[in-house]
Amino acid sequence: MNRIYNFSAGPSTLPVEVLQEAQAELLDYQGLGLSIMEDSHRSKAYDAVHNEAIANIRDLLGMNDDYAVLFLTGGASGQFAMVPMNLLGKGQVADYTNSGAWAAKAIKEARVVGAVNVIADCGKEIPTRVPRVDELQFTEDAAYVHITSNETISGAQWKSFPETRAPLVADMSSDILSRPMDVSKFGLIYAGAQKNLGPAGVTLVIIRKDLAERVSDRVPLYYRYKTHIAENSLYNTPPCFAIYIVMLVTRWLKQGGGLNAMAERNERKAKTLYAAIDAGDFYRGTAIPEHRSTMNVTFRLPSEELEAKFVKEASARRMSGLKGHRSVGGIRASIYNAMPEAGVDALISFMKEFEHKNG
Ligand SMILES: *Cc1c(COP(=O)(O)O)cnc(C)c1O
Repeated sequence: MNRIYNFSAGPSTLPVEVLQEAQAELLDYQGLGLSIMEDSHRSKAYDAVHNEAIANIRDLLGMNDDYAVLFLTGGASGQFAMVPMNLLGKGQVADYTNSGAWAAKAIKEARVVGAVNVIADCGKEIPTRVPRVDELQFTEDAAYVHITSNETISGAQWKSFPETRAPLVADMSSDILSRPMDVSKFGLIYAGAQKNLGPAGVTLVIIRKDLAERVSDRVPLYYRYKTHIAENSLYNTPPCFAIYIVMLVTRWLKQGGGLNAMAERNERKAKTLYAAIDAGDFYRGTAIPEHRSTMNVTFRLPSEELEAKFVKEASARRMSGLKGHRSVGGIRASIYNAMPEAGVDALISFMKEFEHKNG
């Protein structure tokens, strides 16, 4: 096997054990003589996969029955639209926090649907951060409050979540299942799978069921959460194979000790990498320390030329995906759940060597 360390922000690295298992049963799923991706989504075998994926997520997050777990399509970007379509009634206002590029896209889409009040805005600040809980100016009777728990591009992350009177809605695409959290604080959580959950093509939605009843009857059936709750995400053909991989990833998480164990490992990886950045003046972190993401570690080098050289030489050392997002430049190391500690250690040794030669 000749695998590289893949620091890509998404689609991103998956646990090697999961890929091996998927490979082993790709042609002949559990003796059925076909691949799970070839099987009907109404089959007994697929049903078990689908329901285990849901059960694993419920179990990892310790959710109660007030919440539904849905597998939809359209990515987190689809949820930018579906959230206001379902939750933002006529004459109502939704509160949004702007913490960066992804929050800004969510805001832009919500404005197509209804009235939005941006209750805190640090989206363009450098160094990057997310809003502080004490600067949020909630609208009275807001339909909901939207946050982006981890800004994948800027590398800033909410470390604790605000108490809100209106239902709290979170885009958790890039840090879902990276740490334990209290689902009961949220009305709705959504995440594209391709960062921390599995391959692209499936979108996880966790929704408090009563909120799904808010939807107006002018919203087409397909775009109502209610429709998918009633059919256990089998209203139409779901992305079966992507859900199968999510099932294997969540099984892997459970076998590894659940979210406490994962959070500990993620903290350790992030801490050592940020310590390497802070060790001298050569590397500079781009997020303010209190808001530094444990998932997407963003930093700069003294010049753009050195950054380009860094990416190129890292790639020759079998470390890929380190180029920062095209909108901001710099370096970004995405160290999601599936990135082993050895990958972070390899990156740190390369950083030391690179600084030694170029500093
Ligand atoms: C990647 C990402 C998105 C966009 O996800 P798609 O599945 O491509 O629509 C939205 N929000 C955040 C925080 C992301 O990291």
